[in-house]
Amino acid sequence: MPFDPNDIMKDRITDIGPPKYDKFFPPIVKENYGKWKYHEIIEPGVLLHVSETGAKLYSVRVGTSRLVSVDYVREVCDIADKYCDGYLRWTTRNNIEFLVSDESKLRPLINDLKSRGNWFPIGGTGASITSIVHTQGWVHCHTPAIDASGIVKSVMDDLFEYFGSHKLPAQVRIALACCLNMCGAVHCSDIAILGVHRKPPFIEHDRVQNVCEIPLVIAACPTAAIKPKKVADESGKEYKSVEINEARCMFCGNCYTMCPALPIADQDGDGVAIWVGGKVSNSRVAPMFSKLAVPYIPNEPPRWPTVVKTIRKIVEVYASDGRRYERIGEWINRIGWERFFEKTGLEFRHEHIDDYRLAMTTWRTTTQFKF
Ligand code: SF4
Ligand code: SF4
Repeated sequence: MPFDPNDIMKDRITDIGPPKYDKFFPPIVKENYGKWKYHEIIEPGVLLHVSETGAKLYSVRVGTSRLVSVDYVREVCDIADKYCDGYLRWTTRNNIEFLVSDESKLRPLINDLKSRGNWFPIGGTGASITSIVHTQGWVHCHTPAIDASGIVKSVMDDLFEYFGSHKLPAQVRIALACCLNMCGAVHCSDIAILGVHRKPPFIEHDRVQNVCEIPLVIAACPTAAIKPKKVADESGKEYKSVEINEARCMFCGNCYTMCPALPIADQDGDGVAIWVGGKVSNSRVAPMFSKLAVPYIPNEPPRWPTVVKTIRKIVEVYASDGRRYERIGEWINRIGWERFFEKTGLEFRHEHIDDYRLAMTTWRTTTQFKF
């Protein structure tokens, strides 16, 4: 409808966000909304939810990747049409859950998924390692220090035995963020893979004044490390550019987001840090932030062997030493950080000491209250 200046609200579209969540509920979820009594994991990868009305809903969880092809999604939809009346959901950790309300279709669905090779691995529930949640990496974003999908594939290929089994003391959530702006969940995951830059941005003086808003770049720096500067080239030609106080730079890449003439990616400077012990759950003890375990591992594409080996070592030590239901952070708190470094063989270095001046205000951040 054309815009009517006398009735500005007429036909105005105000809700352009995602549709209301209950629009896509399967009928069994709609009918039993608020009535679910309990749930259990009947085997690795298969959950059963039971309602007060006696209704039963099975969820078959299947690992998948974050970037998938249209052909793959079509195959997933065909499977859901055949066994689940078309109902399925994607979890926040990139798993697919096929929702089965007709018990007679559960085994045929599982057999069908297993018959398709490793395309649809069943697992990721309970005391397992579920799919790794990750950010965009070199495929898409402009500030990554590392790849995302490549590292995740390498790590998960190695730890695959823990996906379809319940061999661990508790669940192990692994996350990857390819820079410390961190659109992944690395601050609160049991094991976190974080891309780190270690060098300040390079300044392309001849481009800055043409492709950047200099005041915006200066304002974008959280540590006030950037100031304007006039620079001359060999021929004497002057450019309006910027100067970076390298001692203040924390290699966050914010300025590069504002100004493509300040690239921060660097073959020698960039790499992987590994963090451990975070969790979101309120069970037993308060949620915990991840803490630094390995400050730097160089990028080793295409299979990142040192990252893979380090994470396997942490998982294996935890698997043999952790008590039942104890998350990695709880295990470390019980044995102490000194013992964690001893048992895993990881080196304790000066980078592990938190000297950030505002750290005091965040050390005890928690959503758990005790009165
Ligand atoms: Fe981009 Fe950083 Fe997010 Fe990775 S974590 S996608 S580099 S903002
Ligand atoms: Fe400032 Fe971050 Fe750019 Fe360094 S990388 S100059 S801290 S915005």
